[in-house]
Amino acid sequence: MADVRRGLIIVNTGPGKGKTTAAMGTALRAVGNGMKVLMLQFLKGSWHYGELDAVQAFGDRFVMKQMGRGFVKVGGAETDPEDIRLVEEAWNEAAAAILSEKWDLVVLDEINYAISYKMLDPEKVAEVLRRKPEMVHVILTGRNAHPTIIDLADTVTEMREVKHAYQKGIMAQRGIEY
Ligand code: ATP
Ligand code: MG
Repeated sequence: MADVRRGLIIVNTGPGKGKTTAAMGTALRAVGNGMKVLMLQFLKGSWHYGELDAVQAFGDRFVMKQMGRGFVKVGGAETDPEDIRLVEEAWNEAAAAILSEKWDLVVLDEINYAISYKMLDPEKVAEVLRRKPEMVHVILTGRNAHPTIIDLADTVTEMREVKHAYQKGIMAQRGIEY
């Protein structure tokens, strides 16, 4: 069993810090093994994250794309149709990337939020994950991972918040939070 290679479905969820950055750590590990990584960030877009510049050094071996606008107003009728359109667009690109076999690892950052905000149907995601190419790894991040996705996943980690600097009134720090 130890030598069997196969693509995994990995979920980083829970309320504690570290979901996105753990995915980036795994991505770095994969790139170091000669694998190609695509990271698509759902809902993100208004903040400039340091990692966007850092991965440029890897050229087409590690590509990161922001697919949203950042501040998203959600909840039933409040959800802006434009944000839903952007999520659909991000999902179409994600599905195509997973099925293309062009990438060894595809990271779908914050996709769990998009699903929990009802901006994306978990069944659509599950359908693609079920028929993903055998060797492709997929990481899905974000709080409140849907039970359907957790069910399909091989490895699920729930980040638990013990404490966060934010609770002491310390604002997001450059290089740590963005
Ligand atoms: P990171 O990107 O640092 O790995 P994350 O992906 O686990 O964090 P998200 O839920 O995506 O966390 O939230 C993104 C931002 O919110 C980050 O700047 C992160 O530091 C911050 N954050 C994460 N957890 C908490 C928390 N429990 N309280 C306050 N802010 C948080
Ligand atoms: Mg995150």
